[in-house]
Amino acid sequence: MNNNILRLKKNEIIRNMCVDTNFLQDQLIQPIFISQKVKDSNEIPGLQDNYVMSLDRAKKQIEKDLKSNCKNYLLFLVPEKKSQGNFNLDFHFSAIKSLKDSFSNNIFLWADVCLCSLTDHGHCCLYNNNNEINLDQTLLELSNMALTYVNAGIDGVSPSDMMDGRTKAIRNILDKNNHNFVPIMSYSTKFASNFYGPFRHAAESAPKFGNRKQYQLDYRNKNDALRASLRCANEGADLLMVKPGLYSLDLIDDIKKQTNMMVGAYQVSGEYSGLTLAAEKDLLNFNEALKESWYVMKRAGAQFIITYGARKAKELELFA
Ligand SMILES: [Zn+2]
Repeated sequence: MNNNILRLKKNEIIRNMCVDTNFLQDQLIQPIFISQKVKDSNEIPGLQDNYVMSLDRAKKQIEKDLKSNCKNYLLFLVPEKKSQGNFNLDFHFSAIKSLKDSFSNNIFLWADVCLCSLTDHGHCCLYNNNNEINLDQTLLELSNMALTYVNAGIDGVSPSDMMDGRTKAIRNILDKNNHNFVPIMSYSTKFASNFYGPFRHAAESAPKFGNRKQYQLDYRNKNDALRASLRCANEGADLLMVKPGLYSLDLIDDIKKQTNMMVGAYQVSGEYSGLTLAAEKDLLNFNEALKESWYVMKRAGAQFIITYGARKAKELELFA
């Protein structure tokens, strides 16, 4: 076989003609952090152009983002008070309502559903006295949180806790309250990863004791990783996700084949900050490296990408 690759590389036109991976700007989701404590905004170390913001400042940021056609957001809310249960979600409700009142359908607003920024110990669940996960109570709190978000007008909910049964519990409570059309984007294959550092700083969600290996996946196990996404698919998730995205590329296609569902990738804070810090040391071109990382995730089959650089997409001239 005369398999010549170079013949189709003569110039940009023929190279573009032969590109087989492409995507739309709305397939990039921008995380956004709003804290009850922050007066204006604090830059998140390692995450260039990302801030923990007050609600007012977040609205200004979204106004600015919209000018760059960045419209799809994943919201993380950081309340002032931490406790052990019966969480007060007034701040969550009012922040979401205010954002949706301001931007209506000009944005699509997903919200992270998890307990780790609410619990005083920073874990994603509640515990019994003997330090076992209190699954029933955890599912109740998560369901209540999702319903609160939806009552405030959220467009979609995104459970990230990794408890068995959470997707089903959330789907049930939403359906019972006539919110049948609100989608669930589940963090379905989420590893106990070393690459979440900058995020935990921003969301104030670092665990005060132990780690999350009791409920997040072991990166050494492919079967568990696939089963976790199957679990969420069976429980009624509408969209699945792998996290950390770049370190889970091998799983995307298998999950799609086993579920016939769309699977996204979350380019997590540790992956993103690796690019930021290398660029600060002049070791790479940030924009070009970011672009490459997105194409690699799309090439691996990711339907959508959650990335701290979504708001920079226009600057990268991907969608001319
Ligand atoms: Zn959590």
